[in-house]
Amino acid sequence: MFIYLDNAATTKPCSEAVSAAVSAMTENFGNPSSLHRVGLNAQLVVDNARKIISGSLGVDSSSIVFTSGATESNNLALRGICTAYGRKRRKIVASSVEHASVDETLSALEKSGFEIVRIPPRSDGRFYVSDFIDSCDENTVMLTMMYVNNETGYILPVKETFSAVKRKFPEIVTHSDCVQAYMKMPVKANALNADLISLSGHKIHGIKGAGALYIKKGIRVLPLITGGKQEKGIRSGTESVPLICAFGAAAEKFMTDISERFSRVTELKEYLISHISGIDGVTVNSPDDGSPYIINISVGKRSEIMLHFLESKNIYVSSGSACSKGQKSGVLEQFGISGKNADSALRISMTAETTETELDEFISALREGTESIRG
Ligand code: PLP
Repeated sequence: MFIYLDNAATTKPCSEAVSAAVSAMTENFGNPSSLHRVGLNAQLVVDNARKIISGSLGVDSSSIVFTSGATESNNLALRGICTAYGRKRRKIVASSVEHASVDETLSALEKSGFEIVRIPPRSDGRFYVSDFIDSCDENTVMLTMMYVNNETGYILPVKETFSAVKRKFPEIVTHSDCVQAYMKMPVKANALNADLISLSGHKIHGIKGAGALYIKKGIRVLPLITGGKQEKGIRSGTESVPLICAFGAAAEKFMTDISERFSRVTELKEYLISHISGIDGVTVNSPDDGSPYIINISVGKRSEIMLHFLESKNIYVSSGSACSKGQKSGVLEQFGISGKNADSALRISMTAETTETELDEFISALREGTESIRG
């Protein structure tokens, strides 16, 4: 049995997404910028996807800019705001557990003269609103805070923090990387008090290569890519119509039953945790109230060794402390998971289609792995 438990890395495209992409390639293959009917038809399907995605966030469709993925959305959000507003206000406040596409961009901005304040979780592994507010001041240009952490599933207090910041410093631009929350829990721009939101198509059963940045009306984001002024001049370059249509189709499919799927995945999380907690040397790193879609555990053996052992059984998970290509991100350490526990961390990430039978296979392979792998 092929068991895929690495859905936080990427998801299998749903059939609706694949059909939408094929139809865009075979029927609506025009350039959305062309003035003739073929171009107009391509523009119409792109705008339909824009309408679906904006509707899911509860915003106007003119506030969605399509990008190549959330890495680009995060870069555009951070660099685009700093270029627009960062001449006088030179400080950015962020959580210390952001995805590399935010964190590395912050480091680059730091080199160009911005002050970056990274707020870590406290010793109890939790984030506190007041820590963010106390770090903000008149010199702060933006606050960036992911909604769900991609390594542990921890849910950050975005709504509470953004609301408090807006009350005290309405000028500060708020940005949230909502990649691991979108279509898994409600993500509404107004409720979150977010000026900018980053999304990725392939994490919601779309296809790799399409993402979006929500930009609240009135907020100025200067482009990273200049050229033919597509996407209202904020992201030049011919839109990838097939990938955007796939993104829209996936969003349309999954936006209807978010709470039912959340309940189902919560049951799966409880099932998994109750069965693995009895395995010698296995501990759960994710918080009880984290996203049920992501469960981080330590297995007592080096992550990579266990990952390949599971792979030999046709079971696919992620090494829990890796941000990309096996490199350590340091995020687990920020959450107080260090040393052997970080080196032996695995990330299991599910969908509502994951079954108990698949989890049983995983649990039994994990048990076998902990007993049979030496050292
Ligand atoms: N932000 C988070 C929280 C992620 O988990 C990821 C992907 O792992 C990204 C951003 C980057 O997304 P993309 O692959 O669309 O560039």
